[in-house]
Amino acid sequence: MNPIYRYIFPNKCIFCMEELEESTTDICNVCYNKIKVIDETYCRHCGKLRELEDDLCLDCLTRGHEFEAGRGVFVYDDRVKKALFGLKFYNQTWIARKMGRIMAEYYLEHVGWEIDYVMPVPIHYFKYITRGYNQAGVLASYFVQAYNEQMVQYQGRPVKLLKKGLKRIKWTAPQKDLNPETRYKNLENAFIVNAKIMDEVKNCNVLIIDDIYTTGATMDVCARQLKTAQVGKVFFITAAMGSGL
Ligand SMILES: [Zn+2]
Ligand SMILES: [Zn+2]
Repeated sequence: MNPIYRYIFPNKCIFCMEELEESTTDICNVCYNKIKVIDETYCRHCGKLRELEDDLCLDCLTRGHEFEAGRGVFVYDDRVKKALFGLKFYNQTWIARKMGRIMAEYYLEHVGWEIDYVMPVPIHYFKYITRGYNQAGVLASYFVQAYNEQMVQYQGRPVKLLKKGLKRIKWTAPQKDLNPETRYKNLENAFIVNAKIMDEVKNCNVLIIDDIYTTGATMDVCARQLKTAQVGKVFFITAAMGSGL
């Protein structure tokens, strides 16, 4: 690989940042053996890792959710945390390129709900202009790119990315600092569906994309807004899934 290309598109492991020998992999052997992909036993509603098949998590049993169903690719551990941190705060969008593609491959192999539109969980405008990008938006772009490449190859139906389908209109405290109950309160009236696309998405299925799913408060609030706007079914996929609850 030539040095400039290598600089622009580093072929490093997304978790430990070690240089990779092969250009076709995204994860080194060490990390591959340590990380946990959620592909066998998971809550059939929210996708949280479970011990048994067809087992609902406590959260879904007791509270339920606004979305139809959701899945996360990796269990959120220290390695995944480091990758997502780099993606979110250090402009390491190359991680999103690989992660978005991994999410699309996972989706096509293990999920496959009928979807028409993909929307990232939005960040507030002020955050957007200071950070320069929305990490969920970058993930969503690469997800859609990889997904649609497959659709073209197998004559399936491509999905459309609506990067600004959802808008964040309220500045909120970071969710990670709050307990599960106040997380919902914190997000009250935080999101709206973009008025410009309301007619277009009516009765269509939407897949929401984010970096991580923990209590589901963000997904629930976004899903509720979309349902109010009369979309069809709302699903989500995240790169990581908190292992609690
Ligand atoms: Zn690694
Ligand atoms: Zn669940």
